[in-house]
Amino acid sequence: MRRKWREKGHFARLDSAAFPRFEPGSVWLVGAGPGAPGLISLLGYHALSEADVIVHDALVGPSLLELANPRAKTIFAGKRGGKPSPKQADITLKLIEHARAGKRVLRLKGGDPMMFGRGGEEAETLARNAIPFRIVPGITAGIGGLAYAGIPVTHRDANHAVMFLTGHDEKGGVPEGVDWDAVARAVPVIVIYMAVKHLALIAERLLAAGRSGDDRVAIISHAASPAQSVIETRLADIGQLILADIPTPAIVVLGPVSNYRAALDWYRGALRENSLG
Ligand code: SAH
Repeated sequence: MRRKWREKGHFARLDSAAFPRFEPGSVWLVGAGPGAPGLISLLGYHALSEADVIVHDALVGPSLLELANPRAKTIFAGKRGGKPSPKQADITLKLIEHARAGKRVLRLKGGDPMMFGRGGEEAETLARNAIPFRIVPGITAGIGGLAYAGIPVTHRDANHAVMFLTGHDEKGGVPEGVDWDAVARAVPVIVIYMAVKHLALIAERLLAAGRSGDDRVAIISHAASPAQSVIETRLADIGQLILADIPTPAIVVLGPVSNYRAALDWYRGALRENSLG
């Protein structure tokens, strides 16, 4: 099978015939992966080289954008220097405008576009406005970021389930819709996005709901980048951390899988500046 493809030349050369056409007037919602530029998918890479307009958020690193079509117009749509972020509706409107002008529009988001990334909302608006779109998944920080810290998201000796949780709701507080008692009991491993600001409160709620204070916690900052750093602690000791000093973005993982890091921390110092991975 593989040989057949090779004979066609598609996989061997990765020429554009191997990829679906990036149609003018369409939007591709693409996940960039958690940090290292090499973690984008082949389809995402193809989109980068074909796009006329690239609208990206703050989690997308500059080195990935260097791989883009040099003629592409790059638009930043994220928070910078504490200024308020552009309104979601304005961003989507921009995508629609450029698509209607016949451009190939790449909406590039950190990690996976559909994981706490509002990709679903943007796709809904595109669908409502009859703009053709494609979704290209990415490696989410809650899986890829853990891998770069030597933490398997599941391990047969540790957990049969994993939960992805946000530590932040749209109002900026701890999510009100979360049943903390249920969360604390539901699964051995909880991966929390956007958790640092409210981490003390989240830890309190989980402890109050009966989660063990001995539960392992790893906080991975700037995962899969040369700036990656990891803090390891216990749930009961989170109160002792100075949360303001933890670099963000950071992903928090709670549960026994962090124990494997002692043996599996392969990445330490592995990444060179200017390398893809
Ligand atoms: N769509 C993204 C998540 C967006 S929400 C994804 O799938 O990964 C933003 C949160 O993602 C951050 O607050 C942080 O918790 C996490 N995150 C994204 N990139 C990260 C990185 N390189 N290192 C650590 N955390 C990251």
